Amino acid sequence: MTMNILILVVKSARILRMRLIKMISAEYENVAIEIEQQVIKVIKGMRQEGLTDKESGGMLIGSILTNSNDIVIKDYTFPQKGDYQSRYRFIRREKSHNALLQQKWEESNKTVMYMGEWHTHPEIDPHYSRQDLRNWKKLLSKSKTFSDYLVFIIGGINIFKVWVGSRENGDIVLVYKGAYNESNKFN
Ligand SMILES: [Zn+2]
Repeated sequence: MTMNILILVVKSARILRMRLIKMISAEYENVAIEIEQQVIKVIKGMRQEGLTDKESGGMLIGSILTNSNDIVIKDYTFPQKGDYQSRYRFIRREKSHNALLQQKWEESNKTVMYMGEWHTHPEIDPHYSRQDLRNWKKLLSKSKTFSDYLVFIIGGINIFKVWVGSRENGDIVLVYKGAYNESNKFN
């Protein structure tokens, strides 16, 4: 009897924690990737619903959990002055985004780091372009970060997708496809 109650308590604590933190979870090889809901919410806010809306983008920032390879994406940068934004193109300038990353790194007591990139597309269900793939491959080989993996998000109009890239072998794999309005999770 007591045991049953205990199990019930543990179970509800876990459910409560999941509800409080609000993440989306994906897996790549033996790595768990968690993305805090607020990150998706920001991308949703910048999606290209209007016919003249331009692409937006920025860095994904997060941590590697101790004693694992697991990744949590909890922060981001968004378009800065000097970034190139057009209907089908977003190019971020290095300097301003790197300065923000540096600032977030210091504020977090050096626990967060560069974890990848996000940008929007004027498509209902987004696909990466050849240019995106070239950029992502370049970032996998050139980025300075402790993470062995980088996360790439494209926010379409209704759907967002998450890819994970391995810095070891350059593979890029789709790990998550979601709708912003799924049970109003991202409102
Ligand atoms: Zn793109």
